[in-house]
Amino acid sequence: MNDYDYDLFVIGAGSGGVRAARFAAGFGAKVAVAEERHLGGTCVNIGCVPKKLMVYASHFAEDFEDAAGYGWTLGERRFDWSKLIVNKDSEIKRLNGIYERLLTNSGVEIVEGSAAIEDAHTVVVSGREIRARYILIATGGVPSRPQEPGQELGIVSDDVFYLDKQPDRLLVAGGGYIAVEFAGVFSGLGSQVTQLYRGDLFLRGFDDDLRRGLAEEMPKKGVDLRFHTIIDKTEKTSGGLLAHLSSGDKLEVDQILYAIGRCPNTAGLGLEQAGIALGKDGGIQVDRFYRTSVPSIFAIGDVIDRAQLTPVALAEGMVVARHLFADLDTEVDYSGIPTAVFSQPPLATVGMTEAEARKAFGAVDIYRSRFKPMKHAMTGRDERSLMKLVVDRESQKVVGAHMLGQDAPEIIQGIGIALKAGATKADFDRTIGIHPTVAEEFVTMREPVADPEEARAAE
Ligand code: FAD
Ligand code: NDP
Repeated sequence: MNDYDYDLFVIGAGSGGVRAARFAAGFGAKVAVAEERHLGGTCVNIGCVPKKLMVYASHFAEDFEDAAGYGWTLGERRFDWSKLIVNKDSEIKRLNGIYERLLTNSGVEIVEGSAAIEDAHTVVVSGREIRARYILIATGGVPSRPQEPGQELGIVSDDVFYLDKQPDRLLVAGGGYIAVEFAGVFSGLGSQVTQLYRGDLFLRGFDDDLRRGLAEEMPKKGVDLRFHTIIDKTEKTSGGLLAHLSSGDKLEVDQILYAIGRCPNTAGLGLEQAGIALGKDGGIQVDRFYRTSVPSIFAIGDVIDRAQLTPVALAEGMVVARHLFADLDTEVDYSGIPTAVFSQPPLATVGMTEAEARKAFGAVDIYRSRFKPMKHAMTGRDERSLMKLVVDRESQKVVGAHMLGQDAPEIIQGIGIALKAGATKADFDRTIGIHPTVAEEFVTMREPVADPEEARAAE
């Protein structure tokens, strides 16, 4: 006899949870999903989507300036923060409705409220006990906060989408995706932005040429980048917030945005009581089918602390739904995940960095092109794009592709397919370019740059 209320109970209606719930229901399972905040999760409400809308908003400032080189004279320009937030909120509301319909039309029941796990097959939501054959934890992540005195005066990315007022002066702490993206957004919207990073060069893990390239471009757009710097303490003053920096400088600003990473959202879930094992970074430990240490409980997305990206959470959700309800064992291929930072200019990357490829293969050929894009020939803007291919010298396979410049995320998505298909440099070379585009550079770079080791040996 089946004494379960559901075949699958999903905790969290974010990217991964919604995908798993919909597909499981599509395979015939009886499914419910609990959500304590808003349908669509981080990506839709306080992540990818509103962030991208804000990137679009901020880029107009430059577009208006650039139009002058093409003969346009524009009238008075004014930016209204409240209008952006109101319009953004109504677009997000529309998306919340789409998510609700996606779930209900697939036959998934939505349970509003915060869920906690009681045992291997029991979940409690607002005092209601629910029994499920399988439980899926898809509760995402939460922004980390630093330790220093006065940190509570600052905000995190969850807050940045709902600010009543645009800060005139913003201090951004951190050197990852979120810090770089919001430094660009607020600088474009006219705020005076200072960004601090604790190490030598931000965006650790990305190809060094892209990191250096972006570090050259951002100050041209007005961002005050300060490396080797952290905030020691912050105090409130009559004029705003006074940040005492490790460099000895003091900086008065209106807001401080901490973007120093995100940690798995496991608080209050009852994981310990249920006997679910965590890794040392606090993420839930899972096997290749996302099964936790309790065989009836699965976990996906940011809460397992692999790649914290929406398409990855979606792919993981699919694996769970197929594994449990379609008798189909697929696995997520974590190699060569294309990714983009929506900085200004944006950057995108797929495959290995030059440093990783040198370590993996020894000899590599590097093709690199740094140039002023045609668009800026007439705008006078001093912005340079960078494109780079990393090739394993022996097999001639292209193992990494990296770009900094307008449309980089759109371009690298396609290059990602070529890399997944195992394309060689010769395959790139025999592909006809689309002219005139920036993207054609990827199929027209012919001469590798001088190998630093060979150049040294020749000296
Ligand atoms: P989430 O989408 O976070 O969903 C978890 C859901 O669970 C939430 O709705 C939460 O309310 C709910 N929940 C939590 N606990 C409970 C509970 N106990 N009971 C009921 N419900 C609960 N990724 C990209 O690929 N591209 C981007 O451009 C991008 N931009 C980003 C920008 C920002 C500012 C941030 C913060 C993230 C961004 N990401 C981006 C990352 C992306 O948003 C996440 O990787 C993705 O949302 C993870 O999906 P998830 O399903 O694991 O969790
Ligand atoms: P990241 O992990 O990308 O970056 C965290 C940054 O904060 C790093 O520069 C890190 O430095 C620094 N840092 C960590 N701890 C401290 C500290 N105590 N004091 C000062 N600096 C510190 O995290 P984000 O918060 O930017 O974003 C979280 C994740 O969300 C991303 O990794 C990404 O997976 C996802 N995301 C994806 C986006 C996209 O796809 N475009 C956009 C936004 C988010 P160090 O490098 O030295 O460790």
